[in-house]
Amino acid sequence: MKQSCTPMRYAILLGFSTLLFFTSWQMAKSYNTFNRFPTTSTTYRNTDLPSSWRSATERAANEWTAVSSCSWTFTKSSSSGSYFRKANIDGPTGKLAVCLNYRDSNNKLSGFRITINQEYTWYTGTGNPSSSQFDLQSIVTHELGHAVGLDHTQSSHCPNSSSMATMCAGSPIGKTWQRSLSSDDKSGIRSLYP
Ligand SMILES: [Zn+2]
Repeated sequence: MKQSCTPMRYAILLGFSTLLFFTSWQMAKSYNTFNRFPTTSTTYRNTDLPSSWRSATERAANEWTAVSSCSWTFTKSSSSGSYFRKANIDGPTGKLAVCLNYRDSNNKLSGFRITINQEYTWYTGTGNPSSSQFDLQSIVTHELGHAVGLDHTQSSHCPNSSSMATMCAGSPIGKTWQRSLSSDDKSGIRSLYP
């Protein structure tokens, strides 16, 4: 009887350590934050964008607002100080978009300006962009993460696959996976606005 006891114990310990490893990997935080609004909501204006671009920004904002167990809300407004615009940022091979964060007297976030680089060819619909188009909704979802205080996801957690977080740096042409927040993106905004 004693001889059969040892391998049994070994098997149980191995299983337990594997479970611990799996659990800690699942719980690992990959998001990064840099600041937050003192409130749990803000408004934005998209009327400076071409009308055909606006719905993509609204779908992107709604993706963040819809996160469960999170108090954050984006609301569209015609008079907000936070806004989207399009401009030539740094040419047709430069940045896709830039989020500028405004801060209040306590150095907390108070608003944003998101500039979309008009030198790129943008896909603004809900289907699939061509291989020569960038997906506007995906890039705006990413920039709105910066707007609320999220920095880029730890690069070691950003493999080049469809499982990447929206807040991973960079966006591949013709892809739409950044439209949907990953569980890590959701954990990030929950940490800022529980
Ligand atoms: Zn970014």
